[in-house]
Amino acid sequence: MLGGGRGSSQIGSIMPVPCSSCDKKPAVLRRPKTGHSLCKECFFWAFEEEVHQTIISAELFQKGETVGIGASGGKDSTVLAHVLKVLNERYNYGLNLMLLSVDEGISGYRDDSLETVKRNQQQYDLPLKIVSYEELYGWTMDQIVKKVGLKNNCTFCGVFRRQALDRGAMMLNVDKVCTGHNADDVAETVLMNFLRGDIARLRRCTSIITGSEGAIPRCKPLKYAYEKEIVLYAYFKKLDYFSTECVYSPNAYRGYARAFLKDLESIRTSAIMDVIHSGENLSVKEDVKMPTQGTCTRCGYISSQQLCKACALLEGLNRGLPKLGIGKQYKLHNRLLKKDPLTEEQQKKLGAVTF
Ligand code: SF4
Ligand code: ZN
Repeated sequence: MLGGGRGSSQIGSIMPVPCSSCDKKPAVLRRPKTGHSLCKECFFWAFEEEVHQTIISAELFQKGETVGIGASGGKDSTVLAHVLKVLNERYNYGLNLMLLSVDEGISGYRDDSLETVKRNQQQYDLPLKIVSYEELYGWTMDQIVKKVGLKNNCTFCGVFRRQALDRGAMMLNVDKVCTGHNADDVAETVLMNFLRGDIARLRRCTSIITGSEGAIPRCKPLKYAYEKEIVLYAYFKKLDYFSTECVYSPNAYRGYARAFLKDLESIRTSAIMDVIHSGENLSVKEDVKMPTQGTCTRCGYISSQQLCKACALLEGLNRGLPKLGIGKQYKLHNRLLKKDPLTEEQQKKLGAVTF
């Protein structure tokens, strides 16, 4: 199946030209990244080799490492699991691969996509660990949305997912976690951080490996793979993936950045790569204040504040003040930790949203 119909224009129904790589078989697609007309096998080879080049040039893995693949059942992580398994065998990386999934507790979405991950586990014969928000935090996203509404839900979900992946990785004792972030995702993030003036994140967001400050390193082997090519790869390989959007989506800001990039890409194919390169080569002034990392006094997770973001959000949820951990309200935490009473107005500001 083709997710959202994307990529269908690259598949030639009647394309009598021969593959520009092997010159033997007929081409079945035009590569979005290079414009080359290729047969299926040459496209698979080119795609896999590019991921291999990304892995070796950034020295993402060491022989013998245990690597957790963040698996959501979506096209990106399914392609990532498939390609890593292929390359691990083809080039003898010597990696011990595992699937690691996060169950946010979103009915009608994650329950179905996790079924896909479970099938992938059988298909790829890899161990699978699922960590859930409910077991880690005592809250499912369905319950959180009931409290916070549909405006800040992705803030909770993003913070909790980040920690959940790390916690799952620790339980599995992996050396690294890799995620299916693709070139389009990275370009979107560059654009969003630029538009928000978030210099600290702008500096970090193009890194192919992150989390060196005490956390388990994360890497993005598909960083230079175009989303359109991932869809084509999954389609022609007939990979089993889940293509429905989260019922609590969309994250509006990212949606606009995505639409803008897609428009740019339609008139200039290299737009995605150009934005990534711009992000990689931006130099940030030395005097930009970067947060200093410590650890959360409650759960021990890395944090630049007394409480990590997840504990701050949880504190708000458990106190019935769901906005406590969001944005500037975060500052009110220290008052609460010191047991300073909040004014009635502050209580009201942090209370449950009404829909
Ligand atoms: Fe979570 Fe938001 Fe993504 Fe849904 S769209 S999975 S709520 S971050
Ligand atoms: Zn914490």
